[in-house]
Amino acid sequence: MAKTDSLMTPQRPMISSIIGLRCPVCREGKVFSNFFLKMHSNCPVCGLKFEREPGYFLGAMYFSYGMGIPPLTLMTIFQRWILPERSMISCILVSTLIFLPMVVPIVRYSRVMWLHLDRFFDPQEPS
Ligand SMILES: [Zn+2]
Repeated sequence: MAKTDSLMTPQRPMISSIIGLRCPVCREGKVFSNFFLKMHSNCPVCGLKFEREPGYFLGAMYFSYGMGIPPLTLMTIFQRWILPERSMISCILVSTLIFLPMVVPIVRYSRVMWLHLDRFFDPQEPS
């Protein structure tokens, strides 16, 4: 496994590496090792440790909240608009069921966005 090289210049644009779920440093190594939520502990290309400290990915919740709440709210409002006789709790439940398949992609992208944001503002490894 290669070590992090401070002189390494990423070839891929940041937005492309986020869309491709790639490492924030080398922008080549994949963050996830399968199609679900299993992550590599270190980047397979540059060796960057993804989880800097315990609880590191709590910051990803800001992104998952931002990606999850607007579609849920809009789906609920849309249902109330087209079916005004339906109860609010029923609309929320239907929206949640429709939303469930999006949970895994949202968690994956929120973690990668958090990695990129954190590494952008704090690229140094903790001592
Ligand atoms: Zn890397």
